[in-house]
Amino acid sequence: MIDLTPMGDIRVDPQRQRATAQGGALLGALDAATAPYGLATTAGNVSHTGVGGLTLGGGMGWLAREHGLACDNLLSCEVVTASGDVVRASAEENDELFWGLRGGGGNFGVVTRFEFRLHRTDPRALSVERDFPVAGAMAPAARWRDLSEGAPRQATYTASVGGGVATLGFVWTGDPEQGRDHARSLEALGEPVARRDVESSYLDLQRRDDDVQGHTQRRYWKGHYVRELSDAAIAALLAHDPSVSAGLQAYGGAIADVADEATAFSHRSAAFEYVVATRWSDPDEDDVRMATARQSAEALAPYSSGAYVNALSDDGVAGVHRAYPPAKLARLSRLKDAVDPDNVFHLNHNIAPSRAATAR
Ligand SMILES: Cc1cc2nc3c(=O)[nH]c(=O)nc-3n(C[C@H](O)[C@H](O)[C@H](O)COP(=O)(O)OP(=O)(O)OC[C@H]3O[C@@H](n4cnc5c(N)ncnc54)[C@H](O)[C@@H]3O)c2cc1C
Repeated sequence: MIDLTPMGDIRVDPQRQRATAQGGALLGALDAATAPYGLATTAGNVSHTGVGGLTLGGGMGWLAREHGLACDNLLSCEVVTASGDVVRASAEENDELFWGLRGGGGNFGVVTRFEFRLHRTDPRALSVERDFPVAGAMAPAARWRDLSEGAPRQATYTASVGGGVATLGFVWTGDPEQGRDHARSLEALGEPVARRDVESSYLDLQRRDDDVQGHTQRRYWKGHYVRELSDAAIAALLAHDPSVSAGLQAYGGAIADVADEATAFSHRSAAFEYVVATRWSDPDEDDVRMATARQSAEALAPYSSGAYVNALSDDGVAGVHRAYPPAKLARLSRLKDAVDPDNVFHLNHNIAPSRAATAR
């Protein structure tokens, strides 16, 4: 294992609206460095996630519907290749490598520096949640889905199901008053048993799940992309075992503006990402916890249009095939032939070289 933890520096150029992050930087450091200038780029929802893995797999966050995925905001990468060369990849230099780094994961080298485009970002945010008992949540969830289709890009619709409760709402980035205006449309869901409208800074929004997603727990997850959230898919979600927590996060907006062939990241037409997750502490519970999560994900499988490479766990080669359609996987394999023919970087969701009989 190559430990990039000591390489965590961030540099910001506020005039050019650029930031560079070293390969081992965490999202929290990136957000904290850009915020004083009123700037940000898309980063994930938990601040102790690495910039590296998140960006190389795609990078979904609350700004993505406005500004694209983290990988869509990449301008260049400095990469140490399998042969030990240090190369720059951008739209102008090593452009095929740059294509593969935007969604292909850590398959093509060690990225020692990421250069990101930054955006003027309002420092305020609003989280809107409405709770419904799972037993009566079918109609509200279907209306929530319909509302998500025409939602402004500042709103990222979210839903979670667990412990007998379905929570429907959205996260709003920017002026909370505008968010509250939009929240009025949620009255169409019916009367919830609880409502939460929580105003925060954008930075606090980015950290709000840090504790609950702490490092000391055992965890397991499975995911799907869903192009159309049918009523049947919603019913399957609501029927999950209450011990697991499953969530939906809306895609669309600027994510779907980027041409599919522009990056290795696939599934830009997904309406939602579904993830079922379970966390526990007693190793004796491993089997039952994982089996329950697998069963839940299996129930959503008929509605799946693929998977996010960063949400794969023990899915193996089949998972890689769900993350990339055949033509993309073939192009990624050709890139692997060119930059890592011996599959040095294989302890990942592996893109095997096309000449390899099997992945290592
Ligand atoms: C609590 C939690 C919350 C999450 N929230 C989000 C979210 O909001 N949005 C989202 O899109 N994803 C999210 N994810 C998924 C996340 O994107 C993946 O788990 C991702 O792999 C994390 O990257 P990392 O660098 O932290 O992890 P690591 O385990 O260190 O790395 C993951 C993979 O990337 C490779 N890699 C990492 N850095 C580099 C580098 N510099 N150069 C080359 N290869 C590298 C590693 O070798 C490994 O194969 C979340 C994950 C967790 C655990």
